Amino acid sequence: MDTQERLRRLPKVDDLLRHPTVAALLEEYPRPLVLDALREAIDVWRARLLSDAGIEYDESGLLTDATSRVALKSQRSLRRVINATGIIVHTNLGRSILSERATAAVAEVAGSYSTLEYDVVTGERGSRHTHCEELLCKITGAEAAMAVNNNAAAVMLALAALARGKEAIVSRGQLVEIGGSFRIPDIMRESGATMVEVGTTNKTHLADYEGALTERTGVILKVHSSNFRVVGFTQEVGLDELVLLGAAHGVPVFEDQGSGVLVDVRQWGLPHEPTVAESIAAGADLVSCSGDKLLGGPQAGILVGREHVIRRLKKHPMARALRLDKLTLAALEVTLRTYIDPEAALAEIPVLRMLSASKDEIGVRAAALAERIAERVGDRAILDIADDVSRAGGGALPLADIPSVVVRIKPNGVSAVELERRMRRAEPPVVARIKDDRVLLDPRTLSVADESGIVDRVASVLLGAG
Ligand SMILES: *Cc1c(COP(=O)(O)O)cnc(C)c1O
Repeated sequence: MDTQERLRRLPKVDDLLRHPTVAALLEEYPRPLVLDALREAIDVWRARLLSDAGIEYDESGLLTDATSRVALKSQRSLRRVINATGIIVHTNLGRSILSERATAAVAEVAGSYSTLEYDVVTGERGSRHTHCEELLCKITGAEAAMAVNNNAAAVMLALAALARGKEAIVSRGQLVEIGGSFRIPDIMRESGATMVEVGTTNKTHLADYEGALTERTGVILKVHSSNFRVVGFTQEVGLDELVLLGAAHGVPVFEDQGSGVLVDVRQWGLPHEPTVAESIAAGADLVSCSGDKLLGGPQAGILVGREHVIRRLKKHPMARALRLDKLTLAALEVTLRTYIDPEAALAEIPVLRMLSASKDEIGVRAAALAERIAERVGDRAILDIADDVSRAGGGALPLADIPSVVVRIKPNGVSAVELERRMRRAEPPVVARIKDDRVLLDPRTLSVADESGIVDRVASVLLGAG
């Protein structure tokens, strides 16, 4: 049979619509998606028939292809995954996950009218700033506070409000890039502030700042080196010294703290990470941090500091462009409320729970998880547990190895790479690490429900894989 003849056997979309399989798809999925899937499947078959003279058109093959295509098209793009990497604030997997109470508050405010900008006591218009300001002040000891879309926005707003058309002094050791497009020099330029670099990459002295102060100085900026450390022959000027210098010259000192730690992480054996309250106590006029790094809340940029400084920020025209939406505000308020009781914060905020879990605790969970998987998969894999490290992630505590225990799976019949790939393509996807030809699962970032999901997933991949 010649190629033209073979191609003529390919159906038109209209012909396929009468097929019972397609009728069933139309019951379940929107018509435009079914039509797209059929067209794509026909195109694939046309290309196949053209490229290989040995192939004959097969209707059931085409319909199977179209069915999987329409299922894929209907799948939500942004959806849940199981994070078995042990990286707590995993930037690509959505950074922090919210507490149950915060999640419930988001759902409530999303599906109802709310007190977003309405004061139920007076019956008059309220301000969206009120929901978090008092809480932030209580937790950090600051005079005033506000929250915007993310910490990049917070830094942008602060520089624009304090130093547009003026100079901002910053140490050369702190001209950092955080995750691609956030670079201090670029943000500085976009904010309209003129950057005045002082010191060197490894050492900056108080005299360097002092020598750079002029009547055009709008702010002294200190950036927390969150995702890297300069080690060896180094010197940075402490916040307390900068505060004295700023006060003597009437220049506000602004610290971009990055991670947003509200509790002392040394209690869990981690290296000291200054808390926002410590920076306020040291006298910083303004401190910014992220809401979804170690704070454990939603994506947000938190700004706390002196009343007159926050007032300038709130009044700045850019504040409106960078303002938080109600869903984020709901999550942030509940997360901050949880911090009022430190024990509740530790019990309820997932990031803190994961960060504080001891190696022994993780070890017990790892052993139980390994046993559950081994029971299901039998000789299809060799399972054991081993010491490893978890990470804070999100650029926080970059040098901190958090001792952990992982489940190691060495599959029989398929490679570790293939097992990892199939787990990742399952529903929900499981994201895991590979090391020494084994798939590693770190229980630190898993919920109890996640663990059951993983057992089922690994079992179905390995038992189905032959
Ligand atoms: C993460 C980080 C930022 C950016 O914060 P986002 O919340 O991601 O916008 C800015 N500065 C520092 C020091 C950071 O660590």
